[in-house]
Amino acid sequence: MAAFDYDIIIAGSGPAGVSTWLHLHKLHPDLAARTLVLEKASHPRPKLCGGGVMRAADTVLGLLRIRIQVPSVPVHNAEFRYHGRRFYWRQKNFFRVVRRHQFDAALVAAALQRGMPLHQQEALLRFELLEDGIQVYTARGSYRTRVLVGADGANSVVRAGMRLREPHRMARLIEVLTPTEPTRAYEFTTHTAVFDFAGVDEGLQGYIWDFPCLENGSAYINRGIYDSRYYPQRERADLKRLFRAGLEARNAYDATQSWQGHPERWFDPRATLSQPHILLVGDAAGVDPLAGEGISFALGYGAVAAEELVDAFRREDFRFEGYRERILTHPLGRALRQRRLMAAACYRGWPRVLLTMFFIAMGLRWR
Ligand SMILES: Cc1cc2nc3c(=O)[nH]c(=O)nc-3n(C[C@H](O)[C@H](O)[C@H](O)COP(=O)(O)OP(=O)(O)OC[C@H]3O[C@@H](n4cnc5c(N)ncnc54)[C@H](O)[C@@H]3O)c2cc1C
Repeated sequence: MAAFDYDIIIAGSGPAGVSTWLHLHKLHPDLAARTLVLEKASHPRPKLCGGGVMRAADTVLGLLRIRIQVPSVPVHNAEFRYHGRRFYWRQKNFFRVVRRHQFDAALVAAALQRGMPLHQQEALLRFELLEDGIQVYTARGSYRTRVLVGADGANSVVRAGMRLREPHRMARLIEVLTPTEPTRAYEFTTHTAVFDFAGVDEGLQGYIWDFPCLENGSAYINRGIYDSRYYPQRERADLKRLFRAGLEARNAYDATQSWQGHPERWFDPRATLSQPHILLVGDAAGVDPLAGEGISFALGYGAVAAEELVDAFRREDFRFEGYRERILTHPLGRALRQRRLMAAACYRGWPRVLLTMFFIAMGLRWR
């Protein structure tokens, strides 16, 4: 057998992939040095996202002694709207709103400073399972590795290559940035993020959000619609119609502006999270089905995956049979399961419990 080119290849340098490498570097620097991170784009790369970074994300990064300082808007009030009523969760620095291309580029820069081997503009195209590892084929060549980590997002090529026959578990999201006047806009003057559940009555298993944000120094509202599709058997909400109605109600509809959409995979404790020589993290594995929060969870996956990887190399056992249990018993897995239970209750179609559950869930901390 030919030697391995790398011990580990991580596909994707979003929060999940970079966090996996950073935690490896913390636990086992030699292993981290023999790890390659592949990225199909080049940072700063576009990433559709509301940019809401919860404090749990900064806690994970803080334990790695990393502080991501990018332009952001602090949110001290979350306003939940439903049936003409407004409910508030007030907490100083509840979360901050960033632009993801900047946040992710800064995270990558911090990892590069620590020596992360990164090949940008080199997409993983496919892979083959070998007896003792994985042959990875990229846009530029091919590598032999012991372990492949799928950190390549909701449309993961790694997950697709695992040929799983499982339910879809995909949320759908649409987003648009609308310019605003920060001295007058309610979201800016009161540091408020809005979560509007009006669409629940029309089959939406989610909400419309309005987050204040900064792009190139100018003020915008990041607006989007989140449909968890937690119950796929329920009739699908007409996302475009609901989103347009939401924008019109806010005097923010602009027919010349194009919207962008992207899916998000949500966590199910029964879903496949690994195969021999393969681990999934972040959106490739599944994040929060309730609110669609994924950044802090993606970062959290990195900590769990790195522990699993270090253990596997210590034992020379790459079946990863304990990975699911490691996730489920970690605070990350407990929080994901709580969010899943809340999503199950909220999106079943019992509106009266919805906001209570949402409040409770958003107040739950996993760190
Ligand atoms: C519209 C929208 C709004 C959202 N808003 C929020 C929010 O406000 N707060 C929040 O916490 N979460 C939010 N999320 C969820 C959050 O964006 C994701 O959960 C998070 O980005 C997951 O991180 P990740 O590292 O797993 O994947 P990603 O961030 O998607 O990173 C994957 C990386 O892999 C790279 N890649 C993909 N394919 C390949 C390949 N074949 N080879 C090599 N590299 C590859 C990509 O270029 C990318 O850099 C939102 C999601 C969407 C779609």
